[in-house]
Amino acid sequence: MAESEQLVSISSKVVVCTLCGLSKSRTHAVPGEGGDNSKLLILGEAPGRYEDASGRPFVGMAGKFLDKYLEAAGIRREDAFVTNVVKCRPPKNRKPKDFEIKACRPYLLGQIRSISPSLILALGKTACEGLDIDVDKLLQITGKIMKIKFGGEDFTVLAAFHPSFPMRFKSKRDRFLADLKAAKAYLDSVQS
Ligand code: SF4
Repeated sequence: MAESEQLVSISSKVVVCTLCGLSKSRTHAVPGEGGDNSKLLILGEAPGRYEDASGRPFVGMAGKFLDKYLEAAGIRREDAFVTNVVKCRPPKNRKPKDFEIKACRPYLLGQIRSISPSLILALGKTACEGLDIDVDKLLQITGKIMKIKFGGEDFTVLAAFHPSFPMRFKSKRDRFLADLKAAKAYLDSVQS
C-alpha cells in the first residue's frame, strides 16, 4: 500500500530527527511502514536491535512472533500500519523515558491523524502510555475496546501484550491470540 505525502513527510523528518538523545545511539530511525488507508495501526514500544539495523519495525524475533499470531488471528500485517511510540532504539533496549516519548509524540500523532485508523492495537504498557492511557495493570485492559482522546481527537484502541512477553512465557500465548482475535472481530464489525 502506498504512503500518503503526509506519511512520507513524517518519515523523512524522523530519519534525521535529533529532538531527543536517542538520536545519538541509533543506527537507523524507524518511522514505521504501511499504507495511509490502513484500518489498523499496530503500535509497539520502540525499535530493537534488528529494527535499528534495518530501519523497519517489528522484524526481529518479537516481530516474527507477532506475524505468526497476527496470521493466526486472521489479520494481514500488510493491511496495517506498523510503528512504535519512539522511533529510535533506546540503549540496551531500556524502556523509553517520559521525555523521549513526549519528544517523539508529534510524529506518532501525525501518523495516527494521517491514517485515521478504525483501530489502534497497542502492544504493551509503553504503547498504552504513549497514547496517554493510564495503565495500572495491563491485564485489566487487554482485549477490551477503549475509546480515547489523543491529541484532542477520538480514537479506538485495543491493548494486548507486547509480543516479547508471550514469546517468553508460553502461558500468555492463548490470551495474546484471544486479544488479537478481538481486534480482528472489531475490525470486521466496523467494516461490514
Ligand atoms: S526517538 Fe523520536 S524524538 Fe527522539 S530522536 Fe528519534 S525520532 Fe527524534
